Amino acid sequence: MCMPSEQVAPEPIEAILSRLIAALPDERPIALHEPEITSSDRKAVDACLASGWISSAGPEIARLEEALSEVTGLPHALATVNGTSALHLALLTGGIGPDDEVLTPALTFVGTVNPIRYQGAWPHFVDCEDNTLGVDPNRLSTYLEQIAELRPEGCFNRITGRRIAALIVVHVLGIPARMPELQAIARRWKLLLIEDAAEALGSQLDGRHVGQWGDLAVLSFNGNKIISAGGGGALLCHDARLAEQARHLGTTAKQPHAWAFEHDQVGYNYRMPNINAALALSQLARLFEYLDAKERLHRHYAAAFADLPGARVHQPPADHQSNHWLTLLRVPPELRDPLLAAAHADQLQLRPFWTPMHRLPMYRDCPRDALPVTEALFESGLCLPSSPRLAP
Ligand SMILES: *Cc1c(COP(=O)(O)O)cnc(C)c1O
Repeated sequence: MCMPSEQVAPEPIEAILSRLIAALPDERPIALHEPEITSSDRKAVDACLASGWISSAGPEIARLEEALSEVTGLPHALATVNGTSALHLALLTGGIGPDDEVLTPALTFVGTVNPIRYQGAWPHFVDCEDNTLGVDPNRLSTYLEQIAELRPEGCFNRITGRRIAALIVVHVLGIPARMPELQAIARRWKLLLIEDAAEALGSQLDGRHVGQWGDLAVLSFNGNKIISAGGGGALLCHDARLAEQARHLGTTAKQPHAWAFEHDQVGYNYRMPNINAALALSQLARLFEYLDAKERLHRHYAAAFADLPGARVHQPPADHQSNHWLTLLRVPPELRDPLLAAAHADQLQLRPFWTPMHRLPMYRDCPRDALPVTEALFESGLCLPSSPRLAP
């Protein structure tokens, strides 16, 4: 005996999973984000190998840097071995040193934070917003009024006594953070502003590419980003002097000379090899195609979960034009881990957010504001497979 009124809704996990499966191609495994390597990519890398220019000098590097300037609208671009080294160079050229504090979101990949410690400085964690997923300017402003004071030498933490030297903003999953407001805070408190745009190539706010508001900005071309160099990154900025300094420090601080090896500082070997630049340049030609595909995939997912109570696709504010690097599904916290387990059993690579930085052993004792939004996002967020080829 089965009356219609007695019909029970399927298990919430089953319901969410079946929507996901219906939205995806009938193949396994499906990765979180995989690179697409075309025959023109192979030709570009082959031509580079044939040319003999395979290391950290060569024409593809300069061409990639020019192309990145064109795409982002930032006049100076420096190709690096990865995004982490680009962030390290940004802190170095920004004069961040031992015992400085650097404000940074707790909801980010660890690569944002590690370079702060490379410099002997301390990360100081702040909370993010529920809609842009980026640093919350209102909360940050209130917090600085409480704990900071401006002196002629800069901004100081009244509790630790240390200088607060910089603010790193992250464009999480490709969604532009509230840059005009965050830039105003950085100016008011005399903080160096760095944009971690590792995930956000192609993302725009107010008709400008991300990276335009910071003193320095960083991209990544890791294998799982929208465009890949194998491994790679870039440092971008408006200021020619900063760019020159970063280039020098990232090239072993070698003085230009036809044959002599003269180095005037402790430098770093952070330049991108030409092989990687050839791959990135070839991939960059498809950026707009990928942006289009990822937008379609995001809409496709939004429609797939539209009428399902309990799960919804995260929508960035309409004027924050995301590259939709990863589409985020928000679920009830108690369903997050069971969904991850069920999806992985079916070879669907879903991922939670990164464990928030203040929960990692090496950053547990760093100064921080209350982080309720970070915690809530971590507990409820699931990143869905987002490779461009999955777009309908
Ligand atoms: C990928 C990433 C980085 C680091 O880039 P790598 O090229 O892997 O060193 C830094 N920050 C964020 C937010 C990232 O997603």
